[in-house]
Amino acid sequence: MRLNYSIETCAEIFQAKTVGSHSESITHVYFDSRKIQQAKGALFFALSGNSRSGSEFIEQAYQQGIRLFVVPEHASIKFQSDALYFLVKDALTALQQLATYHRKRFTYPVVAITGSVGKTTFKEWIFHCISDKFKVVRSPKSFNSQIGVALSLLEMHENASIAFIEAGISKPGEMKILRDMIAPDFGIFTAFGKAHRENFSNNEEHLLEKWILFRECKQAFIPHTFADLENRLPGNFQVCASYENHRFPAGYSGMLGVLKTFLAYLQFDPKEIQERIDSLPTLALRMEVFEGINRNTIINDTYNLDIDALSEALIYQRQLASDRKRIVVIGLSEKHAHERLDIERLISSFNPDEFHFIPEGKSIPWENFHNSVVLVKAHRDRAFEHEVARGKALKHRTVVEINLSAIKHNIAFYQSRLPKGVKILAMVKASSYGAGADKVAASLQQSGIRNFGVAFADEGVELRKAGIGLSSSVVVMNPDPEHSDLIIEYRLEPAIYSFEQLDEFITALIHKQISNYPIHLKFDTGMHRLGFSPKDKERVLAIINSQPEVKIEGIYSHLADADNPVHSEFTKKQLEAFESIVSYFREHTSDSFSAHVLNSEGSLRYPEYSYDMIRLGISMYGYTENKELKAFLQPGVSWYSSISQIKSVPKGDFIGYGCTYEATEDMTIAIVPVGYADGFRRSLSNGAGSVSIHGIKCPVVGRVCMDMIMVDISSVDAKINDLVEIIGLNQKMEDFAKAMGTIPYEVMTGLSRRMHRVYVEE
Ligand SMILES: *Cc1c(COP(=O)(O)O)cnc(C)c1O
Repeated sequence: MRLNYSIETCAEIFQAKTVGSHSESITHVYFDSRKIQQAKGALFFALSGNSRSGSEFIEQAYQQGIRLFVVPEHASIKFQSDALYFLVKDALTALQQLATYHRKRFTYPVVAITGSVGKTTFKEWIFHCISDKFKVVRSPKSFNSQIGVALSLLEMHENASIAFIEAGISKPGEMKILRDMIAPDFGIFTAFGKAHRENFSNNEEHLLEKWILFRECKQAFIPHTFADLENRLPGNFQVCASYENHRFPAGYSGMLGVLKTFLAYLQFDPKEIQERIDSLPTLALRMEVFEGINRNTIINDTYNLDIDALSEALIYQRQLASDRKRIVVIGLSEKHAHERLDIERLISSFNPDEFHFIPEGKSIPWENFHNSVVLVKAHRDRAFEHEVARGKALKHRTVVEINLSAIKHNIAFYQSRLPKGVKILAMVKASSYGAGADKVAASLQQSGIRNFGVAFADEGVELRKAGIGLSSSVVVMNPDPEHSDLIIEYRLEPAIYSFEQLDEFITALIHKQISNYPIHLKFDTGMHRLGFSPKDKERVLAIINSQPEVKIEGIYSHLADADNPVHSEFTKKQLEAFESIVSYFREHTSDSFSAHVLNSEGSLRYPEYSYDMIRLGISMYGYTENKELKAFLQPGVSWYSSISQIKSVPKGDFIGYGCTYEATEDMTIAIVPVGYADGFRRSLSNGAGSVSIHGIKCPVVGRVCMDMIMVDISSVDAKINDLVEIIGLNQKMEDFAKAMGTIPYEVMTGLSRRMHRVYVEE
């Protein structure tokens, strides 16, 4: 704003008496005491808001150095001796009078833009198309209200050659005031949507109200959709043919048609018009864009949810996304629930891949969004910022990414190889091998798995609490005697491996007067870990047959060396031993139990021993020693971090604890926030381990610290915050495990709890 009005001129414009004295010419205006930046030359309008009277802010404005005020004449104000006050009937009217006066000083064309949607979009479009040929004044942001239009007009200055002013109305009667202020030479009607309808009795009334703006224009431009109104609207206007452009949804063809016609009116030739429309920019406006978790891009516009702004945001999202998935998240507050249908209609016209209304008290399901462009919009009163913050990728955060789709794929692969009718018991012990039992199990349950295995009772309780219901059985492989009550309470099924344990569990059931409780019998067929000896089978059977408290739900054993063909003789012996146990029980009990003996590796090598069920663990995550079948599995676990800091290390300097690494050349290193406390073992120090950055292998230099490593990035063009892959496509789980001298099982279960788990599903 570059005004230059004397106090006398203003007094005349406002037809106001003044109180006090101050001599300063007026260069700009304020009406919000929180936004004051430059007090000198500022005129403060004490507008009365809905909740608080503007005069309350006068004191604050004075404190900030403002000395010129426009105040309602009857307001009770403490006049300061060094300030000057214009006393007016209504401060808003005074502001509008100043705008009207100011606008009249200029003779270049003023174009008014109205329509219930698309005003701001159109204004930004036209600015983009003509600003190299015209000096354009345009409304800041979406200033189009009674106040906004006045402020927009006050932006006009003598060096401009055309002005575009948005006009928006929400009540009958408002447009005339705007028209008198703007006095447009030209008019643009964008589109007629569903916004701001509540206060109008019908569409026609709304349209006629808007039309007031254009009555005295030299020329107005309206989209083809209004063709049928041609004979009923007064004034001079042109109906513009629709125009399609591949970058915009079909709903924009009307507005693009208006743009095209208007550009032609401004004497642009057809080729220029085409080029300019093809290069229309993305409209950032007031939207904030940042990186989210799961490689999402988040467009945050949680400060307002008016329909105009929403359509702009949707266009912007579309442009930003190109081929990526688009997800729209709307935080609707109860107060605004009635707007839902209109919002829904607008959003569906953009055809997003997903669309979520988040009711009050519910949170955004960020964990389900993956590599998408997520637009989050909400009413300001929803206070949605913290919800958005949850989706934000925290820099320097190290994450373990679990690909649930890969797990489902791997399960399906096993199912396709198993003899018909063989079930899968998913081993989700140790928090699903570190992947997070609740999330993994819930996903497995979704894909039809009904049998789960855990090590301890509390892990089973966790599953039940995570929604693994009673239609699924949860076997506890190592139950502690003191957990019998917990097991019974949560309907978990204990694996019984000794006579003491069998006795204790039966006693617990007798106390609770429960009968027919399902148990699993574990036999040791050669591994010499937990389990009854095969010789015990008669005694076990005798006890169970005499105790109505329990029934045999399963009988199982575990192979010691299923993946090793060298020991296949040994494995065969185990399998034969198991076979004789199973047939013994089949013969001597009427309990219809499941028999199972194969783990991941076993079921690839010995599918003929699948019995009723296999117990799948590591291969759910895509890992196997089986070279022929490996290619059919998809890796389910990735481990990422990001660069915290980059430094140059001159030749001869040392890196890290103990000065164990000396730079043999000048080098560049990156500090990555992952350490042995996260499962990146200290044995990976000094080149034993590495990470991958932009696909390039970067060896560890110096010793691995508790929470950090240093890696050599001399041959990588890397920046701070760049992604660091520890396990993924470039550095495979198996290779990482080998570098640590261990196996994927231990790598996975060694991933520290403090790292965030992120679940992706394609
Ligand atoms: C962990 C476990 C499995 C799963 O083994 P994988 O090699 O991971 O498939 C199977 N059975 C028992 C008893 C287990 O403890």
